[in-house]
Amino acid sequence: MARRRAVFLDRDGVLNESRGGAASPHRMEDLQISSEARDVVNRIQQRGFLTVIVTNQPDVARGQMTLDDALEISDRVRSATGADAAYLCAHDSGDACSCRKPKPGMLLQAAREHSIDLVGSWLIGDRWVDVAAAKAAGVRSVLLEREYSWLPTSAGPPPPGLRPAHRASTLTGCVDLVLAESVDED
Ligand SMILES: [Mg+2]
Ligand SMILES: [Zn+2]
Repeated sequence: MARRRAVFLDRDGVLNESRGGAASPHRMEDLQISSEARDVVNRIQQRGFLTVIVTNQPDVARGQMTLDDALEISDRVRSATGADAAYLCAHDSGDACSCRKPKPGMLLQAAREHSIDLVGSWLIGDRWVDVAAAKAAGVRSVLLEREYSWLPTSAGPPPPGLRPAHRASTLTGCVDLVLAESVDED
């Protein structure tokens, strides 16, 4: 089977609002999906890319929400946007898992499960941990730049020299940059 390229999409702050970037939705009624999300997923898919959501949800490990609720919200984002798959890390930084961004575990697992060509793939995210996870997986990235994008997280500060391939201030702008660089393949 031929391997397919993917665009990995961070969830909170990219596909859905994240209450100012500081928190993820804990309940379905707090979920506000971006008005751009469905259209950009469709545009990406029409160019032959898989669309794969990759989201850190440490509030599960922190006891602030249940895994079931986190998975249900992620599946709602997936189905509402038409994305092909969604992966979720429910761990915290102290858990030493291999899936919590800035680690690349979710991207690598998706690549195995969906025969994804990582070298031809992209990631769009709004924090430095997204850029770092992409880099570790050998995937190019576009930063949806926000005032909090480079702030330290529980994983620490961004490593010196970490840079996305491109930056844009809107999700549509990020997708335009990905598609402008992606030659169609058959
Ligand atoms: Mg985010
Ligand atoms: Zn994890």
